[in-house]
Amino acid sequence: MKYDLIVVGGGPGGLMAAKQAAEDGLKVVLVERKKNITEVARSCGEVFYIRKLSASKAGMHGDGYIEPVGVEIDDYKAKLLFPGPGFSLDFTGALKPYINWIEVSPSKHVIYRRKNYIWGFYYDKEAFLESLLDSAKKAGAEIVPGTIGMGAENTPDGVKVQVRGKSGEQTLEAKKAIAADGTGSLIVESVGLNKKRKILSPPMGMVEYELEGMEIDLPSCSWLQLCVPSINRLMTVFVGQRAGDRMFMATGAEETLQGIMKYPTFEPWFRNARIVKKTAVTAGGAGVRTPVKEPVEGNVLVVGDAGSPIETWIQGAVASAYMAVKAIEKELNGQKGNQEYIDWWQQAFYFMKPEYWRMVFGMFALANSWQTDEDVDFIYKLFQDKVGVPQIMVSQNLELIKEGRPELYERLKEGYKQAEQMMAMAAGG
Ligand SMILES: Cc1cc2nc3c(=O)[nH]c(=O)nc-3n(C[C@H](O)[C@H](O)[C@H](O)COP(=O)(O)OP(=O)(O)OC[C@H]3O[C@@H](n4cnc5c(N)ncnc54)[C@H](O)[C@@H]3O)c2cc1C
Repeated sequence: MKYDLIVVGGGPGGLMAAKQAAEDGLKVVLVERKKNITEVARSCGEVFYIRKLSASKAGMHGDGYIEPVGVEIDDYKAKLLFPGPGFSLDFTGALKPYINWIEVSPSKHVIYRRKNYIWGFYYDKEAFLESLLDSAKKAGAEIVPGTIGMGAENTPDGVKVQVRGKSGEQTLEAKKAIAADGTGSLIVESVGLNKKRKILSPPMGMVEYELEGMEIDLPSCSWLQLCVPSINRLMTVFVGQRAGDRMFMATGAEETLQGIMKYPTFEPWFRNARIVKKTAVTAGGAGVRTPVKEPVEGNVLVVGDAGSPIETWIQGAVASAYMAVKAIEKELNGQKGNQEYIDWWQQAFYFMKPEYWRMVFGMFALANSWQTDEDVDFIYKLFQDKVGVPQIMVSQNLELIKEGRPELYERLKEGYKQAEQMMAMAAGG
């Protein structure tokens, strides 16, 4: 066979897999749909999370990678540390700390999810991808841009991957393949792994603006979440850092971003602002699915978002890629690597844990229950300047809301009840 390994997808997961496999001496080819591999054409917060967020005292967040990671900084470069799998990556792109995470109501009442400690860094994803691509090429990986992996088929001694590129369709063969083609993965679908997954919601879209000249009157080095039901009842707007003095903001629909820019509380932030880039992303092909529980099917291993409900995070994509390559190397040497990879996957991601579903549905319970900007202002004022996670604070203090707003209390109670039911459904899936 010409190749030991075919990698489909050249995001963080795929590039890391190609780099690691090539450095370890495997013959590897990577196919990527985009012509310019390292261009970040999809929305992404570009945060490197250094706190074990899900289990921290401050509460829970996100669905990503929960093994500890670290950042070591010297004069010239940073080192991103992954002590779980046992590797590190040099990083020389833009890097900025996040020390606050602030939830903001329509009248600017604030709840701090995190306050005054470094819980993560903005890191330039394009620079990160460039460095992985560079290392993969140097180590001898064959990189084929502008080519789509259409599907994979296990054979008795390997795997065939159908690809379509400039010169039409062809079949590549290798001993092993890695599906790193992100959410809505064609490779995961083609090997049948989606049959065991439940669809939880329609695909979720995100739109993002990168802006110059935003003037925000809240503490710097903050990640913000703006919650304004009159503009979008179900989804908050995220605001975060970019290189130089640029910021970004992202949410489900472009009208929401436009609405925030004109909303009286936030309008002054945008008086001198200019949109310099717009990106979008849709998570989940047919819809947002429960995770792949066993990310190995025959000779195909799944890494990163290809196996997650929405996101493993960049750090989870690279960690899983490293672990998948190590599993493949063991299997090629006649040892058992696949089961180790499955076991690792099941403990490394928050979306594999029941608390994850509590967080997700708790969030929707809140969003489903409030209807007006006054509802949100009432709740955020009640917990003004406190440190914690709004959906948890509210669920634990419903009686406080009953006193001032009995009718909102009833709606919230009903919202949390529905959330419990959805959680039971997701946990059984
Ligand atoms: C709105 C939003 C904000 C986020 N913010 C953060 C954050 O702050 N920090 C963080 O760490 N993570 C964040 N994430 C998640 C992060 O972007 C992903 O978890 C990460 O990029 C996953 O990497 P991946 O390699 O698995 O998949 P992707 O990054 O999706 O890469 C998949 C690659 O495969 C290619 N591809 C797709 N289909 C095919 C095909 N059939 N054939 C060939 N190539 C194909 C795509 O073009 C792409 O290059 C965010 C996600 C979203 C949606």
